[in-house]
Amino acid sequence: MPGLRLPHRVAVITGGGSGIGRECALLFASEGANVVLADINLEACQKTADMVNERFSKAELPVKAIAMKCDVSKEDEVAAIVQRAVDEFGRLDVMFNNAGIMHPADDNALNTEEKIWDLTQAINVKGVWYGCKHAIVAMRKNPTDDSKNLHVGGSIINTASFVALRGAATPQIAYTASKGAVLAMSRELAMVHAREGIRVNSLCPGPLQTPLLMDFLNTPEKLNRRLTHLPLGRFGEAVEQAKAVLFLATDESSYILGHDLLVDGGLSAAYVTAE
Ligand code: NAD
Repeated sequence: MPGLRLPHRVAVITGGGSGIGRECALLFASEGANVVLADINLEACQKTADMVNERFSKAELPVKAIAMKCDVSKEDEVAAIVQRAVDEFGRLDVMFNNAGIMHPADDNALNTEEKIWDLTQAINVKGVWYGCKHAIVAMRKNPTDDSKNLHVGGSIINTASFVALRGAATPQIAYTASKGAVLAMSRELAMVHAREGIRVNSLCPGPLQTPLLMDFLNTPEKLNRRLTHLPLGRFGEAVEQAKAVLFLATDESSYILGHDLLVDGGLSAAYVTAE
């Protein structure tokens, strides 16, 4: 289909009920992809699927969204979302391992309880590992169709964070460690699977105007402590991340793998910001 950037592609998006995941679902569908949306919050995830189906099921290239309840820290539930994509749409081209948490009780090394540490690693690290593992198995089996430019392999995008690359004196030790693990894991996976046509990259968002961060920054003091460091003077929007994820999902990024794509509003380049 001329003009579309993901025609006939099939994508799985975790954390599809909110923020970056929801915006990605809408963007991928607008570019011709069928999507399986997974979230621990089925109601929110179904809402995203309804939005996609209302807008794009009658498009020139009609697409479909399916919502599934999934806790990404449970391997059988992650296996099920990938299997559903293959059963329903015949293949898996894009895996966006995006679900993550930032727990309100996550603090510095001394104050963070072990159960908060374990929960954060289970969702943010193990969840990404499971997503990669099952996506790789499915992508290896993709049927080839030259007429639609569909081939074996695919694109895996894992959501990390700018905090994996920069130190913050506003600690969230379990979260920061988990996102560092995502970067290291993604880089290694990219090397191991490069010659199978499976590209693996990481997205490193800056601080965003989504429930994840806004629930964490629940006082004006906490908000302003961050805002002063943002070169644009504002938090990012989820759709600004989705546009970068779309690029990594398409063949436009065919020579990009093992990359940490920073979409941080210039935060990582800043020393003193403008008044
Ligand atoms: P969000 O809170 O808007 O959305 C996250 C979604 O993940 C929610 O719908 C939630 O229900 C789902 N989720 C939580 N735990 C889950 C689990 N165990 N299994 C399946 N789904 C689960 O947050 P967002 O800002 O869109 O965050 C998406 C990703 O971006 C996360 O990995 C987050 O760490 C990362 N990130 C966010 C920011 C930010 O400032 N918001 C910055 C850097 C990185």
